[in-house]
Amino acid sequence: MTINLLSKNAVSLPAHSEPKTEILRPQFWSTYTLDELNHSEWEALCDGCGSCCLIKFMDNGDDEEEVEYTDVACKLMDCATGYCQHYATRQHYVPDCIQLTPDKVPTMMWLPEHCAYKRLYKGQALPEWHLLLTRDAVATQQQMRAANVGIAGRCVSETGILDEEMEDRVVTWVTP
Ligand code: SF4
Ligand code: SF4
Repeated sequence: MTINLLSKNAVSLPAHSEPKTEILRPQFWSTYTLDELNHSEWEALCDGCGSCCLIKFMDNGDDEEEVEYTDVACKLMDCATGYCQHYATRQHYVPDCIQLTPDKVPTMMWLPEHCAYKRLYKGQALPEWHLLLTRDAVATQQQMRAANVGIAGRCVSETGILDEEMEDRVVTWVTP
């Protein structure tokens, strides 16, 4: 099996990193297409799970059936909190950190199945625990934990991990 290791191929975590200044239109996630969203709406879709910052194996291009996630995260990830440590300047340290935009979503079906960008692109609903639905950050956090979503506290930094160790780090708690 030919395995391509996608190291650091991750999307930014906008929901926790940039100010929201525009109005979120009611039910925007089910009313407009991804490319019709304003900046704040786009940012609000991210649940901050951090899964996209994990290193993954891809066996066949972008086929979601062939993606395997590891628990090894980008070197800028704070594995305790699940947030990027240097978000504003991340591309200085990680030039291939992907800025997720509507035109890139169709080529990123390796994103986890709960990711709102992927779900809306596929015509699916937001996960029921999404903050836009619960409007309660604590409830969302609790429900995300119950749904086994989020990397905080259970990933390790790629720093110090050898390439030959990667296959042993594949996990099943992220589903593409
Ligand atoms: S630079 Fe930050 S946002 Fe980009 S992959 Fe690494 S941890 Fe994630
Ligand atoms: S996988 Fe999706 S929802 Fe989770 S942090 Fe990445 S972009 Fe945001």
